[in-house]
Amino acid sequence: MNKNIAIDGPAGSGKSTIAKIIGERLNLMYINTGAMYRAITLKALRENISYTSVDKLEKLIEGTELYFEDDQLFMDGENISQEIILPETSNNVSNYAAVPKVRRMLVKKMQDMAKKFDVIMDGRDIGTVVLKDAEFKFFLSASAEERANRRFNEYKNNGVEVDYNELLEDIKRRDHIDSTRETDPLAKADDAIEIDSTKLTIDEVVEKIMNYVNK
Ligand code: C5P
Repeated sequence: MNKNIAIDGPAGSGKSTIAKIIGERLNLMYINTGAMYRAITLKALRENISYTSVDKLEKLIEGTELYFEDDQLFMDGENISQEIILPETSNNVSNYAAVPKVRRMLVKKMQDMAKKFDVIMDGRDIGTVVLKDAEFKFFLSASAEERANRRFNEYKNNGVEVDYNELLEDIKRRDHIDSTRETDPLAKADDAIEIDSTKLTIDEVVEKIMNYVNK
């Protein structure tokens, strides 16, 4: 079995930043599964396909090539890493990610990647569904206000203007949809280690995780 690490948590909990650093340190391929749901959402929005049109979504996913190269996500050969983090995709992604068929198809792609490579994967259901047998599982949490604050600063640093209160509302709405959906909701696996990052720096969280992994 390949070596793999699962990191789950809600939007803005620091998963992707932390997974990227740990992946580099341990030489694991970083797979951002949220980016995969975002990619499918972006393509569906471009093609005017609603999240209720399951058959069309199935065809869309079948005809889509997704791969990561140096943490960048390519869809059908196009680097979409910047576009998928913009508010339009963020505001819609949880609806598409709640569709069972969409999940089944993307989970399969994720599991295929984990069979081929040693990976560190972040998402909502990695420890509970995608990599149930992962050697290490972590669940990152943080208050909704702190998470909105982090997202606000990320956008600001990228020159994107957003309203803090709208971000906070979007985060709370996504938390709700992600944790109450029927298929593979956001949840901590029983054997995951929970880390509340509200008052921790990125380095502190990385060190905590590295201590567990090196034990
Ligand atoms: O991690 P990120 O916030 O980019 O994920 C975007 C959305 O994708 C989440 O709000 C959630 O709806 C969905 N997602 C999911 N399962 C995953 C990863 C992301 O449902 N494993």
